Amino acid sequence: MEVIVGKNCGFCAGVKYSISKAEEELQKNNGNLDCLGELIHNKQVVSSLENKGLRTIDSINDAKNKVVIRAHGASKETYDLANEKHIELIDLTCPKVLKIHKTVELFSKNNYFIFLFGIKDHPETIGTISFCGDNSYIIENENDIQNAFNKLYESKIKKVLIISQTTFSVSLFNEFTKIITEALDSSYEVHIERSICDATNLRQQETEKIASVVELMIIIGGKNSSNTKKLYEISIKKCKNVLFIQTKDDLDINYLKKFNKIGIMAGASTPGYIIEEIYNLCISL
Ligand code: SF4
Repeated sequence: MEVIVGKNCGFCAGVKYSISKAEEELQKNNGNLDCLGELIHNKQVVSSLENKGLRTIDSINDAKNKVVIRAHGASKETYDLANEKHIELIDLTCPKVLKIHKTVELFSKNNYFIFLFGIKDHPETIGTISFCGDNSYIIENENDIQNAFNKLYESKIKKVLIISQTTFSVSLFNEFTKIITEALDSSYEVHIERSICDATNLRQQETEKIASVVELMIIIGGKNSSNTKKLYEISIKKCKNVLFIQTKDDLDINYLKKFNKIGIMAGASTPGYIIEEIYNLCISL
């Protein structure tokens, strides 16, 4: 059995940093720490931190301790509310996400209309749109583009910023940008910020390459992880057999035995030991 494991598999710098910092803060605060939403999209990592005392809360109103803001970031309203209620925040927002918040705030102040590409219910997108002001629109799929144009035309604004969630699909970013720039006439000034994170970009490119040459592609990651879902979507375009799993327990050994060449790729929230367990299982067959 030949097994190819992506070099860009697993934890990105932002996720690594938030886990190590959350562990450090748990020690400092004797296990009394809240986290707004799950720290990362991985059940195993979250439950191991919860065993050390981390409490996952859904709203800043439920805070009983210092509150961790995870790598995805939080909305402007969350920061305002924490400030108002004197809740201490440990802000672990990835620097790349913070940069996007600053960029959209700046362009919004300079009266730009913002087209934000992203998954509408993803925490990062919810956070970012809150810094965009009213003259903005989230574009998740092609159907949203016309609504975004309607809002732009109503606003009478002639300056446009195109920006995206850090884990958005590179090919969709290019496709949507082309549609928008071709539709706007020369009276519009368009600024394009390529804000997809390098880690995401490399992982997507490598997934496409591996999926093109294997018989079975295994994508590992949380079912609610947006960046992992993208890897699955990329893989099904290139490979006939694709599995989206969370741990090695999701694998059927008899099914795996049918293949001679397997590819493995994992999302940004997948711990190295889970990838290793799956790799070891595959090469043992
Ligand atoms: S994927 Fe990129 S932007 Fe998102 S947390 Fe990781 S390093 Fe930061």
